[in-house]
Amino acid sequence: MGKQIKTAITPTRAEDYPQWYQEVVKASEMAERSPVRGCMVIKPWGYSLWENIVSVLDGMFKETGVKNAYFPLFIPLSFLEKEAEHVEGFAKECAVVTHHRLEKRADGGLEPAGKLNEPLVVRPTSETIIGDSFSRWVGSYRDLPILINQWGNVVRWEMRTRLFLRTSEFLWQEGHTAHATQEEAVERTFMMLDTYARLAEEYLAMPVVKGRKTASERFPGAVDTLCIEAMMQDRKGLQAGTSHFLGQNFARASGIKFQSAEESEGYAWTTSWGASTRLIGGLIMTHGDDDGIVLPPKIASSHVVLMPIIRKPEDRVKVMESVETLGKALKNITYHHRRIGVEIDDREIGGARGWEWIKKGIPIRVEIGPRDIADNSVYVGRRDKEHNDKVSINRDHFVGEVTNILDEIQDVLFGRALSFRKEHTVSIDDNNEFYDFFTPENQEQPEIHGGFAYAHWCGEDACESKIKDDLSVTIRCIPFDVPPEKGKCICCGNPSSGRVIFAKAY
Ligand SMILES: [Zn+2]
Repeated sequence: MGKQIKTAITPTRAEDYPQWYQEVVKASEMAERSPVRGCMVIKPWGYSLWENIVSVLDGMFKETGVKNAYFPLFIPLSFLEKEAEHVEGFAKECAVVTHHRLEKRADGGLEPAGKLNEPLVVRPTSETIIGDSFSRWVGSYRDLPILINQWGNVVRWEMRTRLFLRTSEFLWQEGHTAHATQEEAVERTFMMLDTYARLAEEYLAMPVVKGRKTASERFPGAVDTLCIEAMMQDRKGLQAGTSHFLGQNFARASGIKFQSAEESEGYAWTTSWGASTRLIGGLIMTHGDDDGIVLPPKIASSHVVLMPIIRKPEDRVKVMESVETLGKALKNITYHHRRIGVEIDDREIGGARGWEWIKKGIPIRVEIGPRDIADNSVYVGRRDKEHNDKVSINRDHFVGEVTNILDEIQDVLFGRALSFRKEHTVSIDDNNEFYDFFTPENQEQPEIHGGFAYAHWCGEDACESKIKDDLSVTIRCIPFDVPPEKGKCICCGNPSSGRVIFAKAY
């Protein structure tokens, strides 16, 4: 074996993937745990990623006619009770406000007082409260469709949390639409799924499979839940966005009625769709390596870091002047509707400086010293290459080519993620082979194993839950891109009309 290669993150992905994830988030200064159990503090480097995601998605939504609005954080308990399946689905994760005042106790501490007549639920999702508004906004077919999006936060009380992936409070958007016909609502459900897929693939460089959830994995109260699923580097699936066709269930519960052109009264057809800060967790696990995170340029917090090399104090003024001029030139360049983000780091901390930016995943690192200035060149490292794979480039050429270099990095990242998924996607028809595929060799400390298994399923809940109980493997989706094919259920052997994707998942 060759000599041990030093990595910036310990443990490595192969050694302990969950621990690697925690270390990467910490080392990149994206987020940290908060004093409130299950809630996270998103630091500037992580938050700017979210801002970029918001900006891209918001633009895409508006292109389809969606408008933003804002609804209350608190939902009356009685609203949630209106849709039976919905309340059952969320009941276990609800944070409930029961008081509205604090009073001083005899010992000087504070205690809740002023009990509310009706408890308020901190929104876990807003179908019911938005439905209430829709019921007042809709009277006739002329008021439809209503296409609304809300950017905000939601609370779902989680017992086991992981930064970005599963937290009790998270940031997200939730779109809610109401339509006069079923066809139009279904069309909208697919349209928004395509929007999420575009964000994931074109911006996050994260390949996704589009498909439909099985009944047991459906959004509580929905008729149909569509999703995009991505494969992480530990070969587990991550649901990266969902779009729900709600039929008339929520319209009935909230009384969203309208008069048609023929003057008959009917319930509207509604949809809802959401994506959250979980996408950032997905991005880290899709592209991160043993040296830290790797940011796709189109969504990166910043694009280029300029690092002056100042060996002698008398060089400082000249080098800094050159660095600042280059910074200005780069900031004037537009890259996919956004100015190029430039960081200047003149801290004199030796090699640690470069490593910090590698850990933070910035796409391009540039070093500039007196010799480079004399040559009119810059010394460039790319995050998609080895840390010591750096080249000297003519300075003007670099400025002219920087957007192409960024696009190239973006493509490399997508290409890598796609080959990774292909490499770990299999078709399985044999039950033993299926169980082997999802069973680690080391039961004590499971090694990275499994992947996406396209296998036949008869459609029965019993088979789905047996596999879940035996292996912690679920049906991620019934993919749209596979043709119908006759076969035998991987679990019971009964006839099946097509393959579904089985995987372990976040
Ligand atoms: Zn079966």
